[in-house]
Amino acid sequence: MYWSRTFIPTMKETPEGAEIPSHILMLRAGLISQVMAGAYTYLPMGLRSLSKAAQIVREEMNRAGAVELVMPAMSPIALWDQTGRTEAFGDVLVKLDLPRGGRKVRVVLGPTHEEIITDLVSRQISSYRQMPITLYQIQNKFRNEERPRFGVLRTSEFLMKDAYSFDTDLESLGRSYDAMYEAYCRIFDRCGVEYLPVEAESGPIGGDASHEFMIPSGNGEDTVVHCPQCGYAANTEKAEIGERRQQAPDVEMARIEKVATPGAATIEQVSQFLKCRPADLIKTLLYEADGKPLAVLARGDHEANENKIRRMVGADRLELAAPGTIERVTGAPVGFAGPVGMAEKIPIYADADIQFVRNGVTGANEADAHLTGVNPGRDFELEAYADLRNATAGDPCPRCPSVLTIREAIEVGHVFKLGTKYSEALGARFADSKEQLHTIIMGCYGIGIARILAGLIETNHDAAGIIWSVPLAPYEVLLVPMKVKDEETMKIAQSLHDELEAAGVEVLVDDRDARAGVKFNDADLVGFPLRVVIGPRGLKEGKLEVKWRWDTETEMIDLDGAAKTLAGLIAEEKTTNARFRARDDNEKD
Ligand code: ATP
Ligand code: MG
Repeated sequence: MYWSRTFIPTMKETPEGAEIPSHILMLRAGLISQVMAGAYTYLPMGLRSLSKAAQIVREEMNRAGAVELVMPAMSPIALWDQTGRTEAFGDVLVKLDLPRGGRKVRVVLGPTHEEIITDLVSRQISSYRQMPITLYQIQNKFRNEERPRFGVLRTSEFLMKDAYSFDTDLESLGRSYDAMYEAYCRIFDRCGVEYLPVEAESGPIGGDASHEFMIPSGNGEDTVVHCPQCGYAANTEKAEIGERRQQAPDVEMARIEKVATPGAATIEQVSQFLKCRPADLIKTLLYEADGKPLAVLARGDHEANENKIRRMVGADRLELAAPGTIERVTGAPVGFAGPVGMAEKIPIYADADIQFVRNGVTGANEADAHLTGVNPGRDFELEAYADLRNATAGDPCPRCPSVLTIREAIEVGHVFKLGTKYSEALGARFADSKEQLHTIIMGCYGIGIARILAGLIETNHDAAGIIWSVPLAPYEVLLVPMKVKDEETMKIAQSLHDELEAAGVEVLVDDRDARAGVKFNDADLVGFPLRVVIGPRGLKEGKLEVKWRWDTETEMIDLDGAAKTLAGLIAEEKTTNARFRARDDNEKD
């Protein structure tokens, strides 16, 4: 391909509204162009990279034994009503009323496809002999995200690979799940993105039933809890905390005193008012677990984790108690709950760190008042201490003697053991060898294709622009003839282009009649991995100047046999990402 014939609208300025490097660079490098908030056109360079990521995903899905099909984006809302997801998705679900011969047909633009695929399987699969099977597609999803942002990282329409496994029993589901998990590792390795599989909330199946694939990045919207020592990694909802090892400070227990705290309601306000640390505050959170009230105590500087609380009490549903319930249980307005002297006796649980609080501050179960000198063990009774809060940096690792770190990350993929939620709702059953009917057991597996690109760029760029790995670059080699008016130069450029193409190398010739500086800046901005300069000085000695995007040094290669040399370099790098990764180690840490 020739630069002058394709369409690469690069720009020098930082585009308005773009905040993070991947968004800025994708716009500046002419990969994407915004249509409206959350909607982008993929320009030729962006589309090439997107298609390459999709192709790697496809190849690895196929290798793992999954089978490709494609479902329509549009489906009848009845299917979503049947699984309760019209309500669960709420405004995120894109719904349309289509006029059809005098009546209106309500349809949904799929945010994911469990309903459609399960409906298909319920019609087409009826025997254990037809399973296990994993079906997948690479297709556009629609989600009316409340806050579309960060370029293609969060859009209202996006390309997703979604796979669904159908099995007869849990053991078989385990095998299907592991096959997808391993395929994901191969996909992200091949793309050259650094990733971390983390344990995520598991839903109905429990246990080790869900992993998110995260790209650690300062601008990620997710946080990941990670132990660099043993590798334990989980998302914040799921992350366990190891045994708390600190001790209560060696200070005498004071008497409880009630103090007036007019107008102080938040942790900050109370700690400022009483001149104490947030860690000296014991917050009392009131929940309803399957409708029954309970209180949870957590240190003022900690955040309670509702999943952990729900699991501990074995409830199906857990929500913050309604204001009316709080007032009844505490005997005070909302905001002044405390474990000492509640109006009603309800079970109280505390996060494990509460046992080390001495002379803490709690709500007084009375408007505008707090208690100081509150001591667990002496002043109130508990059902139990447990791990009930989100992990923070420096907490003990649950798997080894080391401590946890917190990292921001971009969720790029998700594997999930679903169980029978959708097969149950949509009647997908199979007959076993004895003609007994059972519900099919499912798993679902998503990858955001655009997030692979944005994630790679977010973690691989410099001041000049994008640094692509060879497998995802829009073109692998950029030929830069210096004198485009010189016939000899252009003859060499053209034959090298043709030879490289014939050798299966994706090559772009910058045939623009522009200054070298302009061409080099664009080359770095778009980030082609291998830049080959055809210049007068080199040519005099029968040489070309070659530079990897991530290197500062250039290297001269012989013009004679140059296509073969370049094709060899690209082929090696494409299968190993070795130079790309070595650059990671040298420059990024
Ligand atoms: P998030 O928590 O970031 O909203 P999700 O957990 O809702 O994502 P899934 O339903 O697990 O997303 O979808 C599978 C994959 O699709 C995600 O791992 C992510 O890579 C991608 N994805 C989800 N929402 C978007 C979006 N709005 N724009 C681009 N990609 C998305
Ligand atoms: Mg997810």
